Amino acid sequence: MNDRGYTLWFTGLSGAGKTTISQLVAQALKHQGHRVEILDGDVVRTNLTRGLGFSKADRDENIHRLGFVAHLLCRNGVYVLVAAISPYADARQKVRELIGENFIEIYVNSPLEVCEARDVKGLYKKARSGEIKHFTGIDDPYEPPLHPDLECRTDRETIDECVAKVLNLLALRSR
Ligand code: ADP
Repeated sequence: MNDRGYTLWFTGLSGAGKTTISQLVAQALKHQGHRVEILDGDVVRTNLTRGLGFSKADRDENIHRLGFVAHLLCRNGVYVLVAAISPYADARQKVRELIGENFIEIYVNSPLEVCEARDVKGLYKKARSGEIKHFTGIDDPYEPPLHPDLECRTDRETIDECVAKVLNLLALRSR
């Protein structure tokens, strides 16, 4: 019996839709009776990874800690949804190796222009004015997944379509 959980790892630019999609997927999974935990980058950086900055080393450490906690939960049957920019491919790959086959990488993809126009948290404006430095997509890199398990094009697909895609993939994997 497969009583392990899954780690759904949402990666993408700020404002791409990681938080929005992960929250709705979490809601649906709870309705299905699963145990669910969300590790959202914005929240986690205020506790578990508080004090870390945005250098490559600190970003990698952030992902390493998120991956470690996701692994612990996931192996105990929890569905873990991680919503974090996670810009570096090698850091994501290490988490995939740690968690194994129940790691599902979801590329929440929207062009920078669209994310910037949304500017959900007003951060792009601050990055453009130089108030924030090392902002992903502006003056810090984002390495897109080359082989994600799933891609949501949030500039072309509705929120409901994206959520449905994630749930469908999970249903297929859990068979
Ligand atoms: P992130 O967590 O990636 O920084 P958020 O989820 O906070 O992004 O913000 C994404 C914004 O984009 C929200 O305002 C959301 O309503 C909007 N949006 C538009 N279309 C989509 C979509 N298909 N999927 C997710 N979000 C979308």
